[in-house]
Amino acid sequence: MSDEELLTALANTGHEGADEMADPAALASWWAGLRGPVGGTASSETTRAALRDLRRAVREAAARHNGADGPRDGPEVPIGDARGPVAGLALRPDLSGGRVSLVPQGDGDLAADVAAVVLVALLRASAGPAWSRVKACRGADCGWVFVDASRNRSRRWCEMASCGNRAKTATFRARHRDERRPAAARPRRGDGTGRLGTGRQPAPRAT
Ligand SMILES: [Zn+2]
Repeated sequence: MSDEELLTALANTGHEGADEMADPAALASWWAGLRGPVGGTASSETTRAALRDLRRAVREAAARHNGADGPRDGPEVPIGDARGPVAGLALRPDLSGGRVSLVPQGDGDLAADVAAVVLVALLRASAGPAWSRVKACRGADCGWVFVDASRNRSRRWCEMASCGNRAKTATFRARHRDERRPAAARPRRGDGTGRLGTGRQPAPRAT
């Protein structure tokens, strides 16, 4: 599993229905499904909050990569805030084996273990050329995060069949609603008398 795939999987937890970060059992079950058997399954609310903030960071970046201004989640504490849960993670670098990894101080907290792996993946991925391919779907109320594998990096939707077509249909409807207005009802620039046109406004359409 690549760093981008791991971060995408994290971003898509809690997308619909139950949140995999909500309690220790849900987190352990999600992580085991992703990485195989886990040892301890305990995790504290504080470390799970840090993991949710890392998820938010990935979602925000993915939204920006797809041209959106900001995240869909309301802000809790700004992600970089020194009082935030991510800043409270106690991690130490481990240089054994010629590789750098982060290891939680103390042990027995699965969310801290996962956060350490996620942070290293985030460090590597955000410095790499494929980072801008990690995108959040632009569909209304979607935000599903995916890796855009298209050659020209032009993919905008999780699935064209659902979100893409829904957005296109909405644009099509809006455009044709204007075109169907009677000519007299369209705003006119003026008729040379200095007065603006006073065409009847169409009755509001039920939607
Ligand atoms: Zn979508």
